[in-house]
Amino acid sequence: MQVGLHELLGHGCGKLLQETSEGVYNFDIESPPISPLTKKPITSWYTPGQTWGSVFGSLAASYEECRAECVAMALCCDLGILAIFGFEGVEASDVLYSAYLSMARAGIAALEFWDPTSRKWGQAHMQARFSILQTFLSAGNDFASLDYTKEDLSDLTIKIDKSKIVSHGRPAVESYLQKLAIYKATADLAAGTKLYNDITHVNEWWGTKIRDEVLRQKTPRKVFVQANTILSKGENVVLKEYPATAEGMIQSYADRTYLSDSVWETGPNI
Ligand SMILES: [Zn+2]
Repeated sequence: MQVGLHELLGHGCGKLLQETSEGVYNFDIESPPISPLTKKPITSWYTPGQTWGSVFGSLAASYEECRAECVAMALCCDLGILAIFGFEGVEASDVLYSAYLSMARAGIAALEFWDPTSRKWGQAHMQARFSILQTFLSAGNDFASLDYTKEDLSDLTIKIDKSKIVSHGRPAVESYLQKLAIYKATADLAAGTKLYNDITHVNEWWGTKIRDEVLRQKTPRKVFVQANTILSKGENVVLKEYPATAEGMIQSYADRTYLSDSVWETGPNI
């Protein structure tokens, strides 16, 4: 659901205000739209030849991922949308809670992709998730918190108050999303850069204490290993499964040669 909202309504929405060719605008230049941020008519837009990528440059990729993630976080609170994806009642509230909790967790795990030497982010989506975690943490009224009792943060726990997602989490995300969307729509590079650099700035506490613990608790990347079926004694079909490790994956492939030598030309068809 989260990926669906991210791709379709996240990347898929939003208009760039543009002078499409000399003197031709895709909005009313005589009465420009009112920015919901300043409550005044907009004063910037894309000029002929400018694109989102050419104006926002190296910021564009992560910023846009963030905008799409925020759209997903805002819309997954909507009961009608949850229902479209087949979730209703208690299940819908569990899915919503999972979406917020897993985003918060991703925001912490993201620190693996922040390089302390260059002090830069190496992965667009993870930088975006870090900023959404910061948005949760500043949503107020203990909506989101990081709990720990040990000095080395080895018992670090993320808490999201399920009962405050709609009242606190969603409005915080929406307010952040509104800025991201308006600065993008109006080609406001200066405001967009300040917003995004400030919120994804990694200070000493995040960059050393929390990041060290993230790396220490890191588990190997999960792998999907294909099970095999074997016909035993000519009649019983036996399902053979493997551990989700590199060894398990190799064993799964190796076992498929019993089919025939040609399996490697035609591909396994089990
Ligand atoms: Zn995306």
